[in-house]
Amino acid sequence: MDQPTVVMKFGGTSVADAERIKRAARRIVAQRERGKRVVAVLSARGHTTDELIQAAEEVSPNPDPREMDMLLSTGERISCALCAMAINDLGHRAISLTGSQAGIVTDTSHTKARILDVRADRIREALDDDMIVLVAGFQGVSTSRDVTTLGRGGSDTTAVAVAAALGAEVCEIYTDVSGVFSADPRIVPDARKLPLVSFEEMLEMAASGAKVLQLRSVEYARTHGVRIHCRSSFEEAPGTFVIGEEETMEHPLITAVTHSTEEARITLTNVPDRPGAAASIFNALAEAGCNVDTIIQNEPKSDGASAELSFTIPSEDLRSAESALAPVLEAHGMRIGTDQQIGKVSIVGAGMRSHPGVAAKVFQTLAEQEINIEMISTSPIKISCIIRAQRVPDAVRALHAAFGLAASDVREEFPGQDAR
Ligand code: ADP
Ligand code: ASP
Ligand code: MG
Repeated sequence: MDQPTVVMKFGGTSVADAERIKRAARRIVAQRERGKRVVAVLSARGHTTDELIQAAEEVSPNPDPREMDMLLSTGERISCALCAMAINDLGHRAISLTGSQAGIVTDTSHTKARILDVRADRIREALDDDMIVLVAGFQGVSTSRDVTTLGRGGSDTTAVAVAAALGAEVCEIYTDVSGVFSADPRIVPDARKLPLVSFEEMLEMAASGAKVLQLRSVEYARTHGVRIHCRSSFEEAPGTFVIGEEETMEHPLITAVTHSTEEARITLTNVPDRPGAAASIFNALAEAGCNVDTIIQNEPKSDGASAELSFTIPSEDLRSAESALAPVLEAHGMRIGTDQQIGKVSIVGAGMRSHPGVAAKVFQTLAEQEINIEMISTSPIKISCIIRAQRVPDAVRALHAAFGLAASDVREEFPGQDAR
């Protein structure tokens, strides 16, 4: 194999209209003309996936997951076919492939399938034949031969998995921001672009809501040693490289503030205070494929009394969680309450591991904004607070300022050095 391979992934905004598809095509062709073998992974255009979900809900209150995947997977196919046409017009040969044709094999969990294997022979053959290959993101074929999709943001994971299978030199994620920032630049305009971020921090950031990279894509890249370069599809400048912990030179105390308003809280009351109660609840949720995040159990005040248990889950899992819990509630005589108005704000930083006082500063900062903290969860490099959804932007801005994460703050602190 003489020529190096590059995987280029373009997100929904980057292929939203004809002009942008042609722009992506030109960028893909430019890489080819630099002597690379190019595989491009594309997302559905603009809001296509949201519109398809809405179309399903208009015909069915609880759409069948298999049919949902047949529907959702079409968005990415459209982008790839259009882009292949544009590349052909630029004088290069391109072929578009569905996830199934590209050999993306997944498990059978519809709408949130996991990639098990990438059988990339067909991609390799096309590359050997001097073609540019376009792979439809976000989809695969299950071990029982059905079309599956990989969960929201799943095209990132397709790109990383294809890059791993082909031994690509880099997996470039082209998006509508110029890299990974110290906070969502839509909420914090003076957020700082991070030239480098470690896998460890990027995993925590993705898990706590920084949707610029899908969590699974970061996990996959870490396990398979894929180099990710997250960058703008509208400008040339380099973006953010996600690198191994051993490659990072420094560990700033706090790297980023992240947020999410896409979670819901379930509160169970009348939970029997005996061994096995929590196990039966969380087993039911696990079987339904619901990812539980923050959990709090309030101890009963007296012996034999019942306990109260609260936990958060992705909003999209709320319906399946409620139906999974129904038989358990009935068996134990528990009651259920739900709250969809919650939000989560988190700070992430490898340096906090060895610094006391970070949690105190988070709580103080939120208190000064009169933001009430309803739940707290931590990892060695992350502190998350559940608050009211409507206060999330204020909380993000206050924490970003309190920890001095703005581009201007960093330059003042380390005069003469470039940002980071
Ligand atoms: P794509 O369609 O290209 O996959 P996404 O919408 O999935 O793009 O992800 C990019 C978006 O992620 C940005 O527009 C930005 O608003 C959001 N985002 C949230 N947190 C961050 C962050 N820390 N750094 C960069 N972008 C972020
Ligand atoms: N089109 C899918 C989504 O909107 C997958 C992706 O864009 O990565 O979630
Ligand atoms: Mg995305």
